[in-house]
Amino acid sequence: MIITDYKKEFSRCLGCKLKPCERACPLQVSPHDFIALAKQDKYQEAARLIAEKNPLPQTCGLICPDIFCKKACIRGRVDAPLEIPCLQAEVMKRGGYPILEFPPSCSKKAAIIGGGAAGLGALFELLHHGWHVDLYEKNKFLGGALRLIPDYRLSKDILDFEINRLISNNRTTVFLDTLITDFSALQKQYDAVILCLGEIRLRTLGINGEECCLPYDKYLKSPRQYLGKKIAISGGGEVALDCALTAKRCGCEQVEMFVRRRREDMRITALDQQELEKFGIIVHDLSSVVEVQKKPHGLCLSTIKNRLDENGKAIPCDNTICQLDGYDFMVQALGAYYPKELIPQGFIIAGDMSGHGGMAVQALASGRVAAKKICTGDKP
Ligand code: SF4
Repeated sequence: MIITDYKKEFSRCLGCKLKPCERACPLQVSPHDFIALAKQDKYQEAARLIAEKNPLPQTCGLICPDIFCKKACIRGRVDAPLEIPCLQAEVMKRGGYPILEFPPSCSKKAAIIGGGAAGLGALFELLHHGWHVDLYEKNKFLGGALRLIPDYRLSKDILDFEINRLISNNRTTVFLDTLITDFSALQKQYDAVILCLGEIRLRTLGINGEECCLPYDKYLKSPRQYLGKKIAISGGGEVALDCALTAKRCGCEQVEMFVRRRREDMRITALDQQELEKFGIIVHDLSSVVEVQKKPHGLCLSTIKNRLDENGKAIPCDNTICQLDGYDFMVQALGAYYPKELIPQGFIIAGDMSGHGGMAVQALASGRVAAKKICTGDKP
């Protein structure tokens, strides 16, 4: 969303006494309060308020969907809700970042395994309780799935800045490129171990020819390696949308999405729907790809139509098979998950592993909650 007049947007806030926008934020950032300060041009104070609760405040402002504060905004009942995430990002830009201050250090030390949003949330919380932290990350960079978000939505400079701000202190040691498999050994060395391993397994269609498809994480890491004129994407969530818009931005002429349910059921925002229109992305809704074949002129997809049953579940319709061909490649963008059966028992977990990591702000909150329970002695 592009806001041309921020003052005007701040002035639309009704200052609702019950602060529904604050209650809707997984991190309890208060738009009510920071907007009140921004209205008085007190951007520094406003930014401090946000950063006290949110370790990645501008990042969240840039990528938060409209299902939290914006959905709760009372102004939406009058005309349109405030563009709160954009306002948050702008306040951080104008107000700058407060210096991170921590209480006196205690003798406790924790290990966090996984440097995605949940791990960073846990780190933020532990530091605020005086703990020392060793943060282990299997990749070469911190940020986890945030790194897959295309640059047009989230500048990696902002992400890197916010992560560096968080880890640049003498109580945090980061071990990059370090795969930990023996969690029990770590438990003997630390006062607490928090596992934030993210989503390790891609969702698949379970169809013939699936091996011809490109996983979304591979595609989003280096989209310019996979240029094509006509491509297919299976999936209807944010990740699929990121793939579709990235492909268009990389010059792909025809991008087609295959979505199991109805277009209005896609797990994307109203704004994202407009982007689909704007970029001319073709959405085959109520459609599933049931087979992929490699042919000399590109991939050939067999698709079927679905109907929704009374519970909203997509049911394949008989005799609706259709062959579509000439695709340069197909991206599989159904998301990922952490298999329940693989979750190590007896450990504190946060983020996607715990089922609370869907959006970055939720993963941050999940990490904070898990760490807080350790610090306050509650059973996580
Ligand atoms: S709900 Fe909307 S209008 Fe009300 S205080 Fe929050 S941001 Fe302002």
